[in-house]
Amino acid sequence: MSTFRFKALEDVLERKPKHVEFPSDRASNYYATNVFTEEVMREYLPSEAYKSVMSSINKGTRLDREMANQVASSMKDWALTKGASHYTHWFQPLTGATAEKHDSFFSPISGGRAIEKFEGDNLVQQEPDASSFPNGGIRNTFEARGYTAWDPTSPAFVIGKTLCIPTVFIAYTGEALDFKIPLLKALHAVDKAAVDVCQYFDKNVNKVSASLGWEQEYFLIDKALYNARPDIMMTGRALVGHNPAKGQQLDDHYFGSIPSRAEAFMREYEIEALKLGIPVTTRHNEVAPNQFECAPMFEETNLANDHNLLLMDIMEKIARKHDFRVLLHEKPFGSLNGSGKHNNWSLSTNTGVNLLAPGKNPKTNLRFLTFLVNTVKAIYDNADILRASIASAGNDHRLGANEAPPAIISVFLGSQITEMLDKLEKNVKAGKMTPEDKTELKLSIGKIPQIMLDNTDRNRTSPFAFTGNKFEFRAVGSTANCAHSMTALNVIVAKQLKEFKKSVDGRIDKGMKKDEAILKELQKLIKESKDIRFEGNGYGDEWVKEAKRRGLSNLKDTPSALKVMVKKETKKLFNDMGVLSHVELEARYEIELENYILKLQIESRTLGDIAQNHIIPTAIKYQNVLIENVKGMKDIFGKDAAKLAATQLQILKDISVHLNGIKEKSEAMLSERKKANKIDDSEKKAAAYCNEVKPYFEEVKYHSDKLEILIDDELWPLPKLRELLFTR
Ligand code: ADP
Ligand code: MG
Repeated sequence: MSTFRFKALEDVLERKPKHVEFPSDRASNYYATNVFTEEVMREYLPSEAYKSVMSSINKGTRLDREMANQVASSMKDWALTKGASHYTHWFQPLTGATAEKHDSFFSPISGGRAIEKFEGDNLVQQEPDASSFPNGGIRNTFEARGYTAWDPTSPAFVIGKTLCIPTVFIAYTGEALDFKIPLLKALHAVDKAAVDVCQYFDKNVNKVSASLGWEQEYFLIDKALYNARPDIMMTGRALVGHNPAKGQQLDDHYFGSIPSRAEAFMREYEIEALKLGIPVTTRHNEVAPNQFECAPMFEETNLANDHNLLLMDIMEKIARKHDFRVLLHEKPFGSLNGSGKHNNWSLSTNTGVNLLAPGKNPKTNLRFLTFLVNTVKAIYDNADILRASIASAGNDHRLGANEAPPAIISVFLGSQITEMLDKLEKNVKAGKMTPEDKTELKLSIGKIPQIMLDNTDRNRTSPFAFTGNKFEFRAVGSTANCAHSMTALNVIVAKQLKEFKKSVDGRIDKGMKKDEAILKELQKLIKESKDIRFEGNGYGDEWVKEAKRRGLSNLKDTPSALKVMVKKETKKLFNDMGVLSHVELEARYEIELENYILKLQIESRTLGDIAQNHIIPTAIKYQNVLIENVKGMKDIFGKDAAKLAATQLQILKDISVHLNGIKEKSEAMLSERKKANKIDDSEKKAAAYCNEVKPYFEEVKYHSDKLEILIDDELWPLPKLRELLFTR
């Protein structure tokens, strides 16, 4: 009897929702209480230091040593009131997770006494022992170490007893070793390019911020069942498991009432999130059983991204308190929907205007169309860069399967905007436009309704959809650091806006009126980028064919998707926009390939172990039961036994077929893995893992799933998918 699995199931059935203590009856009372906010700074900092910090936040100016000391000292005083004993630089190495190294405020002084100490140097710069973070060869090449440095645009916060300081992670030679630096640079680039374009419409605009509103999807699994599934423990996803009789076909989980244990978990992590200033507002069930979503109010992109990383971390910690494990993997269960992290994105100005929201009159709508059309053109020109930014071993399983957008990048605009763009395309006259032409065009531009009907009829199959006043990048994977996709998106939009400005200025220099120059340029961009627009069903095979006809890429796996990173044009783009140098981009390419290889290597090893240690012995055990039975039948019935025990004999044979199958396929997988491991070149090695090793995953799983159905339930050692998904 497989005691571990049944004990786990018993444990789950006995669980009750955990009690959650609310710090106060109103969230507004405890919101951001663990954050060193602007308001707290005003209270704790001498006014000169306060001004100095605000200037580094708003203008990126450097904090001098004297000021840094004052800020550090105030930060420490505040953190002590929150019960903090340690501080850490909190950063985002290219492993994808966040990293921290804790140091104590405690500092012994003479006479056997001690004080709490924290100085400017500790705040502004710290040297983690960084040699084991991935660097894609940068530090070997330059023989330099890395250091972390404060990012004042993201406020410090206290978690538990630790003051956390958001930081960037840089090699001593200056190269970025994290996700934050290129994001900050891309945000700077889009700020500058968008401000320049905004000058056509409003001279008061001097700052444009990119906003990000992420929606985080995840699965919850009971810890006892999780611990009985080595595949989920090691890889975050079920490598084997027969489809349950009921999956998500009834759609009865979506927006259904939230199971009470899950709800207690949500309440608690939301409280923690709110204390940390993460404005979480939405929670609901997702389509698949045990799948949920959480979303906050959108924020400035760098801050929103820090908040997302922080939330993923908090969710994992709080889940443990509730005897759950959070699965953030993009595709934990092959037959069900995967988890994404929709990245809602827009641009807004210091004057309070959302540049992707339709305006009230022809002028503001021309501005709206300018930003919309330039975004579409940026996606058209750089679809592969965007695709690469969301590539990962996990997302490969999700894209193009069960209600996830396909790997083909396209843009959905909705019928009203499409109609408007068609009008512009047709009605902007070649040659000089008459005042009547212009008036007529402006009139129809003025007619874009502020709240668009399409808002709700949005296309859920599109990877990049316009949703009324923002774009929703839906292809981002649930484990991803959003900095990745947001760096790519903002840098390509920045580049496009810069080119737009240059072309329009060129037309104006030749004597064209501003509005006409803008209209003509928009018309050109609309024509050029038409092929990226797709309003139909992105899930269908028809689209795959149509996309091919249009010449759009369909890069189905990570190794193929990543290649664009080291193309000449990509390197030039990232370098020209001041976001990543050639060396940095090449290093990132190496790291991503390496991450991919390691993920697949771990999956392959885990699958091999499960086949060998769990599935094969169980199958043999059950065969022995059957053999004993058949022997007994023979004792009793003699030669009639062959007929009477036909079922047992057939099962014995069927099990043998799949036993041999699973053994043969896992050995073939092992041999391909060994070959792949000998390859030095990471690009070739990743391709070998993708094309030679990975195909065996499905084959091994096939035989395992057949055995799961053949073998006595009581003997099966691994919690079944129906148990993982439906036991409460
Ligand atoms: P859903 O997509 O779940 O139907 P909504 O369309 O209301 O929900 O909003 C989705 C997300 O979009 C929310 O997380 C919200 O914060 C974000 N969002 C709304 N406006 C913007 C914006 N201007 N920039 C970025 N994100 C935004
Ligand atoms: Mg959404």
